[in-house]
Amino acid sequence: PVGFDAERVRADFPILQQQVNGHPLVYLDNAATTQKPEVVIQAIVDYYREDNSNVHRGAHTLADRATAKFEAARGKVRDLIHAAHAHEIIWTRGTTESINLVANSWGRGNLQPGDRVLVSAMEHHANIVPWQMVAADCGASVEPIPVDESGTLDMQALRFMLDDGRVKMVACGHVSNALGSINPVEEIVQLAHAAGALCLLDGAQAIGHFNVDMQALDCDFYVFSAHKLFGPTGVGVLYGKSALLEAMQPWVGGGEMIETVSFAGSTWNQLPWKFEAGTPDIAGVIGFGAAIDYVQGLDRVAAEAHELELLHYAESRAREVPGMRLIGTAANKIAVMSFLLEGAHPADVGTLLDQQGVAVRTGHHCAQPIMDQYAIPGTVRASFSIYNTRADVDRLFVALEKVRQFL
Ligand code: PMP
Repeated sequence: PVGFDAERVRADFPILQQQVNGHPLVYLDNAATTQKPEVVIQAIVDYYREDNSNVHRGAHTLADRATAKFEAARGKVRDLIHAAHAHEIIWTRGTTESINLVANSWGRGNLQPGDRVLVSAMEHHANIVPWQMVAADCGASVEPIPVDESGTLDMQALRFMLDDGRVKMVACGHVSNALGSINPVEEIVQLAHAAGALCLLDGAQAIGHFNVDMQALDCDFYVFSAHKLFGPTGVGVLYGKSALLEAMQPWVGGGEMIETVSFAGSTWNQLPWKFEAGTPDIAGVIGFGAAIDYVQGLDRVAAEAHELELLHYAESRAREVPGMRLIGTAANKIAVMSFLLEGAHPADVGTLLDQQGVAVRTGHHCAQPIMDQYAIPGTVRASFSIYNTRADVDRLFVALEKVRQFL
């Protein structure tokens, strides 16, 4: 579409300018992790070359610089997601750790025997297993909200499940990593609140594709990983409403998260540091700040339209390939195309694509329950980002044709 120049964006990502197995790289594994623009790589290098120091406790210039950049990045996240306060942004190691923090801190403090936690049937393991571990200790249960054949959440079933007043938490993906389905999260939050439950949204697959607004969503917790938004691995975000975070006990103890320590007992630091024990990934956080600056310089609406145009083109090509079956055909999707080739194991398809320079992901995508529902071992998943082009889609289909001839 007019207004979005994917070729220009592509030039910002040095990794994409390489050959893999003798072919120019076509990177279609963006749901697993996105690539990093030069400005992010440079910010990390600059930090280690010029500012490296521990944050918050130094009495010297480097420590001040590191702290200023580290805390500035927190402010960038607040602006990005329209949180009311910077102290509602907690740094973690990623989406997985953010969910574990909420499950262990809020969950252990609040779940009672007989309470229910709802997750979607297409949830990532990261938003199932932490709840199962905590629920088992608290006598609570974790139950799936049904998903239909197209990969659409059954909202009628959710209403019914919320009816008995025992649901304390609805923990739901904003977007499914396996199928690409976008859930109606505003409605989910409203229904959860009306039933007296809290709502955590797993934004891991949303944050890289469109803007999210905590004020509009009104969710209680929102979690995501920097590496899915062109930032480094090892950094994630837990957004939580101030009053909830204030009431929660810290999950990890150590330096930084305390106010005072004595053998008679310790007291906790204020938000957000109460939840940030130990030395954080300072370089990663600063790199993520650069990634947010980069994203803020893009026209995100046009970027999403570009990605969806690629998806629709790819899906129309897919329908012409004999024996190619699309898994996940919800009306509202991000640019993720999960599929199977008749008679071919997904892993073999992935290997043969890689030999032609095309990077996809194969397997259950950390969402085994929904694969079980489809009665398949996994899928081949091509997932698009801002730097992909129609030429990438064409290369995928040329390569798939070779795979079909080979298998
Ligand atoms: N939830 C979803 C929906 C995801 O796609 C992912 C990453 N595949 C995660 C959670 C886990 O993220 P991370 O591995 O960065 O902690």
